[in-house]
Amino acid sequence: MIPERLPSLSRIPKELGREERYCERCEARTDHILYRVPKKMIFFYVKNHAGNIHATCIRCARSTVLTGKERERALSGPGVS
Ligand SMILES: [Zn+2]
Repeated sequence: MIPERLPSLSRIPKELGREERYCERCEARTDHILYRVPKKMIFFYVKNHAGNIHATCIRCARSTVLTGKERERALSGPGVS
């Protein structure tokens, strides 16, 4: 379903799940991959910073940072250990 090589998706650290979301670039509802992005600090990685959950459109690879309820929902979804 997802193309084998989507350049901007190649560094996805951890996929949380997928859902249909509105993509501003596609101007349509498309499938997005939800994933957690580690943030590199100067000396260490912070796993749980506020902007660490992204949703990436699988059609145009546009990424959106999830916040608030959307973020919580992504984190509590399947695939989270
Ligand atoms: Zn899109």
